[in-house]
Amino acid sequence: MKFGTKAIHAGQEPDPTTGAIMTPIYQTSTFAQKSPGNHKGYEYARTQNPTRTALEANLAALENAEFGRCFSSGMGATDAILKMFAPGDEIVSTNDLYGGTYRIFTKIYERYGLKFKFVDMKDLGAVEQAITDQTKLVWVETPTNPMMNIVDIEAIVKLAKASNAKTVVDNTFASPYLQNPMDMGADMVMHSVTKYIAGHSDVVMGFVGTSDKELDDQIAFVQNSSGAVPGPQDCFLVLRGIKTLHVRMDRHCDNGEKIARYLKDHPKVGHVYWPGFEDHPNHSVAKKQMKRYGGMLSFILKEDNQDAAFRLLEKLRVFTLAESLGGVESLAGHPASMTHASIPKDQRLEAGLTDSLIRLSVGIEDADDLIEDLRTAIG
Ligand SMILES: *Cc1c(COP(=O)(O)O)cnc(C)c1O
Repeated sequence: MKFGTKAIHAGQEPDPTTGAIMTPIYQTSTFAQKSPGNHKGYEYARTQNPTRTALEANLAALENAEFGRCFSSGMGATDAILKMFAPGDEIVSTNDLYGGTYRIFTKIYERYGLKFKFVDMKDLGAVEQAITDQTKLVWVETPTNPMMNIVDIEAIVKLAKASNAKTVVDNTFASPYLQNPMDMGADMVMHSVTKYIAGHSDVVMGFVGTSDKELDDQIAFVQNSSGAVPGPQDCFLVLRGIKTLHVRMDRHCDNGEKIARYLKDHPKVGHVYWPGFEDHPNHSVAKKQMKRYGGMLSFILKEDNQDAAFRLLEKLRVFTLAESLGGVESLAGHPASMTHASIPKDQRLEAGLTDSLIRLSVGIEDADDLIEDLRTAIG
């Protein structure tokens, strides 16, 4: 079945008791049993809930994974993956990570004895060097935030497999419509469902998918034992959001491309970071592993200072100044003072994240209005 059909139907059947087309919101904490242990597959809603089951099956189908588990946030999903490992285990990860992922690695799990190494994953030699016999997991994120770097998933999977390490890909920025890490050999795929998958900036949720039964059993064990599960109302909202994921993503990509090209030609813009440009350093990898290039992009101004960026951001009327991404509405952010403020300045500048860098999550409004908004704000 193709993506658009799976988005609408996978995991969902008309309700057997009433014929309701939409999976009901099973707002219940527990389920009746005929005699002890004799039940219909549901005992207690932390362990299993039918609305969540439908969503988990749907997301697994979209990622070409056999199994899927949902969590109360993307960080809850990350936390569950990390709980599968033991003190002394080593995790190799990209140096260009989502800030919350970096924080849970270094501020929480290092205290519990996990060891983390951060490398530039565009440099495959550096990845190969970083992987040792103790490496149990390789953590990939691509495209990265906010520099829009692209990591070659297939190449990294090969290096990890050679050392019997598992690979997980944070696929949040691409969404399952644009990129499917399982098809490239990854052992697990994770998402902040909060972003493109839910798509309407009204839910916080996470997901882990895998086709390895043993891994899924461990993830399910943590899901039930630690209990970071989403409620049925949120699962319903995400199921509803997913029904238009493919349609939304195509518009995000169309608008993202138009805006990237507009900004590239603008005399006051210094550089535009968007993997669809042929001169993007990893364009060929993006072309190989992504269906299209997405709705995320960043740019810097020729007047490369914070004041210039702030003046621009304050003048935007259609774009909203806010954290997060992936919703139908366009958002603009200033990573140096917002999402990446905790990164030391010299480290930030080294990565190209200068004081005028602006990140856009391009929504699905009319592209002409978005471009007009930018034209006025850049001045
Ligand atoms: C937002 C985000 C997360 C964390 O997800 P939450 O749903 O906010 O907990 C993880 N990775 C990436 C790439 C993200 O953008």
